[in-house]
Amino acid sequence: MIDNVIAQRRNSLKIQVGEVQVGGDSPISVQSMTNTDTEDVKATLNQIHELQAAGADIVRVSVPDKAAAAAFKKIKKEANLPLVADIHFDYKIALLVADSADCLRINPGNIGKDEKVKEVIKAAKDNNVPIRVGVNAGSLEKELQRKYGEPNSDALVESAMRHVDILYANDFENFKLSLKASNIPMTVESYRKIAKKIDQPLHLGITESGTLRSGSIKSSIGIGMLLAEGIGDTIRVSLAADPVHEVKAGWDILKSLGLRSRGVKIIACPSCSRQNFDVVGVVNELEARLEDISEDIEVAIIGCYVNGPGESKAAAVGITGANPLNLMYVDGKPFKKITNEEMVSEFEQQIRNKITNKREQIPASNL
Ligand code: SF4
Repeated sequence: MIDNVIAQRRNSLKIQVGEVQVGGDSPISVQSMTNTDTEDVKATLNQIHELQAAGADIVRVSVPDKAAAAAFKKIKKEANLPLVADIHFDYKIALLVADSADCLRINPGNIGKDEKVKEVIKAAKDNNVPIRVGVNAGSLEKELQRKYGEPNSDALVESAMRHVDILYANDFENFKLSLKASNIPMTVESYRKIAKKIDQPLHLGITESGTLRSGSIKSSIGIGMLLAEGIGDTIRVSLAADPVHEVKAGWDILKSLGLRSRGVKIIACPSCSRQNFDVVGVVNELEARLEDISEDIEVAIIGCYVNGPGESKAAAVGITGANPLNLMYVDGKPFKKITNEEMVSEFEQQIRNKITNKREQIPASNL
């Protein structure tokens, strides 16, 4: 058992985003955002269903105008996970969707006159809907840009506190907050600072982090650093890619730190000339075949006897490459010798058997 690598989680307030709790001791939730035209209700719902199947806990949908607000209401009726309405500047849109959204993403400092701010906060209170304040280094207020010369963590925190102070002045504490930059050190420093100033839950992300590969790496480092310090209650990996990848990457971050588990966790050796089967091909094929499994199960795919038996015995199902026959392990014990050709199908079968057994052990009322 390794202690003290992941710091104790910051003791944040708990808020309710639809059915999902965010903050406190609730599981760190995984979010993503649709990139369809919100007015295309069918396409947006399809994407929401895809994100949910991939493991999204909460999905954000942009609501740029009144037509999108009408579509959002229709979408919300059909979606069965919490939806955050993403609104910029136009407080009337917030008023339109406050009765259907599970959270309003709007920055109070950008709404304008006091009366408008009060109206939005009243709508949020009346509907018991939290607000997500989202500060972004790319859209810092002009006077803060002048004051600090360039975006930095102090500028981001000062900007965030302007919004927060407006909420506090209106007796509104039901919010979460994000402070994003595309620069990892600046983002990490900003979250560390704001974590000491407010008690509300924090939504983590590295903004405009990039393509599937580079964005996943940047997000994993930035979000991972903060989570390891106990900071963060909900995460979104922003990628210039299909948002389903954002959800998968989010889960991979949480799984890697042992903070949540979901689906098949594949332990695989990197492969080398000692491999007795095509490790990379088998891993990719299995990952694709097992995507539908949401239960937590660890499997090992190791190319030879150098590391094979140790890893295979520690997994629920494992394979150690050998010539002429590979050895499959189930529950830590040698189970069967198999050829390379039958490996993927046999492996999938054993994993599915274990999942079926697990499901049969769960009382029907808990399914
Ligand atoms: S376990 Fe064997 S095949 Fe895999 S990387 Fe190590 S030596 Fe190579």
